[in-house]
Amino acid sequence: MEEIERLAQLIRESKKTIVFTGAGVSTESGIPDFRSPGGIWSKYDPEDFTIQRFLSSLDTRKSFWKASAEGELLMEAKPNPAHYAIAELHQLGKLDSVITQNIDNLHQKAGVPEDRVLELHGNMQWVVCLGCRSRFPLLQILQKVKGGIEVPDCPDCQGILKPDVVLFGEALLQETLREATRRAQNCDLFIVIGSTLVIYPAAYMPTYAREAGARLAIVNLTPTPLDHYATVVIRGKAGDIMPKVMERVRLF
Ligand code: NAD
Repeated sequence: MEEIERLAQLIRESKKTIVFTGAGVSTESGIPDFRSPGGIWSKYDPEDFTIQRFLSSLDTRKSFWKASAEGELLMEAKPNPAHYAIAELHQLGKLDSVITQNIDNLHQKAGVPEDRVLELHGNMQWVVCLGCRSRFPLLQILQKVKGGIEVPDCPDCQGILKPDVVLFGEALLQETLREATRRAQNCDLFIVIGSTLVIYPAAYMPTYAREAGARLAIVNLTPTPLDHYATVVIRGKAGDIMPKVMERVRLF
């Protein structure tokens, strides 16, 4: 496929690549995305993912902790070939950073160092107290749920505990957003993988990169609003495409 060779060539020419990922990079790890048929919205009520509902409804918090303890939200998922291909970019010294909308920790599990992963929407492995802002590993708090406490509170100040992810209605982490913007404006290649590019401000990132002169590549199953703006667009499964791209990068 000509586009695969074209993306490999862009990577070979790049010194500072940013990979921007959305839920689509993890569907082949068994984590459904939000918008595809059979995605998360066909199973859960989006209202349950708003900060307002989480704070005001004890029942919502109860079902969150129950689902977590049953392993539904913890996602014991493993990285797939797309995550490993991205990690290989790091090993080759090409990767500036991964900017991700995902909360599943799979880039780190695949071998991208933590300080190279900018998580715009947080990380499901952590829990934060809304009172004192202390963070705790999810697994530590789940011990309490498994021990019979339906809605655990903060071990330090008894405040409300929330998964350390950005729920609907919450602002993004400003510091992470600033750092992601700065990096996007300084890369020479920006590769989008598995994102619909409709959630803002995250979806501004490819535009920042393009406006600053970077090349833009998009690997996604379905069209995105920025396809017309990209140097190369590849329609297909990230887990099929990215290993093929890396095979060609390695040839030179
Ligand atoms: P989305 O659900 O809106 O879109 C995912 C995109 O990926 C779609 O365009 C789809 O066509 C494409 N896609 C699906 N499988 C693919 C594959 N195998 N290869 C290539 N493309 C594929 O997700 P989004 O745009 O990332 O935004 C939704 C928000 O949901 C994100 O901000 C994210 O925080 C959150 N989310 C995260 C996870 C996760 O952490 N794994 C899972 C679901 C949702």
